[in-house]
Amino acid sequence: MKCQYCSCTESKVIDSRPTEESSSIRRRRECTNCGRRFTTYEKIELLPLMVVKRDGRREPFDVQKIKAGIMRACEKLPISMQQIDEMTASVEQAAYASMDAEISTTRLGDMVMQELKAVNDVAYVRFAAVYRLFTDIGDFMQELQRLVEENAQKQDE
Ligand SMILES: [Zn+2]
Repeated sequence: MKCQYCSCTESKVIDSRPTEESSSIRRRRECTNCGRRFTTYEKIELLPLMVVKRDGRREPFDVQKIKAGIMRACEKLPISMQQIDEMTASVEQAAYASMDAEISTTRLGDMVMQELKAVNDVAYVRFAAVYRLFTDIGDFMQELQRLVEENAQKQDE
């Protein structure tokens, strides 16, 4: 972080707090050369967030899996990609905002459910019905896919 006044690269942090959208941190810095103070907004380094599965194994948090799960739950429902992206972004933000190095599958699932509930009841019920049973989101998605196809078949009959 360069000082805005003298371009010295050394400064010390005197205050730091997350901004409201929590993807960046506001830091108050003091230049060690000229002593002037300035504020920087630094993008939070997304340190690897680990997801703890029910069987205790860990895997890196992957937002694409969250999105895929949401999309699956929303299949054939009047929900736009924009809504899906928004839900995904809020889950991602909430996951990182916890500021822990790891998060449980259960908590992630709860976050997804919260989002779905606000948008579409059917998507919510679909997700809620199966996600608790599985330790792995991959298995869960297969089950969800099966359910969606079953429902589609019933409707076709
Ligand atoms: Zn300076």
